Order: sequence, then structure tokens, then C-alpha cells
Amino acid sequence: MRAEFGGAVVELVRGDITEQGTDAIVNAANSGLAGGGGVDGAIHRAGGPKIMEECREIGGCPTGEARITSGGNLQARYVIHAVGPIYRGGSSGEEQLLASAYRNSLRLATENGLRSVAFPSLSTGAYGYPLRDAADVALDTVVEFLRNERHRLALVRFVLFDRRALEEFEEALNRVHSER
Ligand code: ADP
Repeated sequence: MRAEFGGAVVELVRGDITEQGTDAIVNAANSGLAGGGGVDGAIHRAGGPKIMEECREIGGCPTGEARITSGGNLQARYVIHAVGPIYRGGSSGEEQLLASAYRNSLRLATENGLRSVAFPSLSTGAYGYPLRDAADVALDTVVEFLRNERHRLALVRFVLFDRRALEEFEEALNRVHSER
């Protein structure tokens, strides 16, 4: 499924984030940039040790922000390490922090002149953010960025790991699209 906003295509696919040939892929990182399970583990396994060396040099990243490294052995030239919030019931600023993790990732991509970025669903694995709410935040934030900020992005792809995640993101994209 795809739709166009602010000159860029937003695309939803089912797949593995590590296999994307976009200019950058986004990592669901932790604030220590220390590696872990889920998306983070898969990216470091597929990308090799260079990415972790760069993460160590950067040292860390506050929740809601993002940092960029090279893509190591990945097809993508860059990895944008975005730190989404741990879900603690929803009244600890989670929504703002998740939105800001997406927005700051797109800002970094733009500052680096990138044309295409692939995101996983941030915070909806180990960090426990409810998938439906997270899909709404992800698509609202990305679409608002593409419409309102200066950028040269041509493609923002969401790579969803399972069928349910793809379906929730499809519903959220339908909703944003019908609100235009
Ligand atoms: P977080 O710690 O931010 O919750 P996780 O990596 O645990 O991040 O999970 C985020 C989402 O990414 C989950 O919905 C999970 O199913 C999905 N996921 C796990 N591995 C991959 C992968 N290789 N590619 C794309 N999505 C993945």
C-alpha cells in the first residue's frame, strides 16, 4: 500500500528492515546505543561490527532523539538509530516521545541529503507500545513532516514484520489519507 504526501511516497510493506535498499534504515535503538534484541540485534548482526564501533563513539542518545551512523555491510548507506519510549501506561509522555523519535529521524535524513528511508515500527516490540496507537502516531508524524517541513525525501517506507502490524499500519494510513 502506498500514498503520496508532500512530494514523497509513504509505502507499507511486510518484510525485514535489514534487507532494505533505501538510503537509510532506522534502528529501534535503546538510549545506550548498546545493541539488544529485536530490530537492534538484527541490524548489528547483518551490518557487522563497524556500526557498533560508531555507536560506542557517539556514546548514547536520549529517548525521543536519533543519531546516524554508517550502514556497515548493509545495503543501506546509513543507519539512523532512533530511541522510542518504553510504554508505561500512556501517561508518561510516550506519545510525544514516539512522535519525536520519528520526527528527529526524518530531520537527520533530511540534513544528510537522503532521499529514501525505511522505518520499523518503533517501540512496539520489547518496549510494549500498543500497536494500533503506535501506528497512528507513526503515520500522523511522518505525514505531518512530509507536508510541512522542507525535505528532499522521495520515499518513506514502513517495514512491518508480521501481518498484524501491516494491517494496523494500513488502517492508520487509510485514516490519514481520508483526512486530507
Ligand atoms: P522496541 O524495543 O523499540 O520495542 P523491537 O525491536 O523490540 O523494538 O520491536 C519493534 C518492532 O519491530 C516490533 O513490532 C517487532 O515485531 C518488529 N521487528 C522485529 N525484528 C524486525 C525486523 N528484522 N524487521 C522489521 N521489524 C522487525
